[in-house]
Amino acid sequence: MIKQIWRQRWVFFLVTVALAVAVNGLVSVRPAVAESESAPLPEVESEPEPILVNKAQPLPADYVPLDLRPVDIQFAFAGDSPKRLLSAEAAAALEELFQAAQADGVELVGVSGYRSYERQAEIFAANVRCYGSEEAANRVSARPGESEHQTGLAMDVSSPSVQNQLVEQLAETAAGRWLAANAADFGFIIRYPEGKERITGYQYEPWHLRFVGRTHALQIVGQNLTLEEYLAG
Ligand SMILES: [Zn+2]
Repeated sequence: MIKQIWRQRWVFFLVTVALAVAVNGLVSVRPAVAESESAPLPEVESEPEPILVNKAQPLPADYVPLDLRPVDIQFAFAGDSPKRLLSAEAAAALEELFQAAQADGVELVGVSGYRSYERQAEIFAANVRCYGSEEAANRVSARPGESEHQTGLAMDVSSPSVQNQLVEQLAETAAGRWLAANAADFGFIIRYPEGKERITGYQYEPWHLRFVGRTHALQIVGQNLTLEEYLAG
């Protein structure tokens, strides 16, 4: 009888220990699971935050991207020009975008990529003469240091359907619609969207593509934001 009681107590003890180990095991596992769930995805980590260049945040006059290279796409002009250049990652992404457009039967041409501070100064001065004032010129053209083209991450793109011109009608063509629908998949945004002039400081430019990386581009386009709004959020 006494033996039986001891055996029962022994079994009870073993069951209690087993339960305690099981419960502790579960508890100690939980924080590890929570940590891995809250960790950022590797894809997000690998894409740096896009740089912001605008009228309030200009680049230094001597800023030149170190990895500029010619983009292997159809251009609207012949001959050598800095306008063929982009920063390496943006260049590779734009080549993929052009190949995908061609595969969909959409013809695009590159018009203007990299632009130095000095070249932007010449263009702005010419626009001031043309528009009559700095204020009027600045609605369509950046002051030197304030152009995204100096980053090597922006390319103006057009199509033969609008005679390779940089005009708002591009948005109504098959090329413009294809760009609006697909550019983000290749890491580009239409940087100056319609109706956001007060935020970007520029009129609608359906031709101006800015490389920000695919993850950022999909979020910006998906939430219908400008780069200014996205970086402030
Ligand atoms: Zn542009």
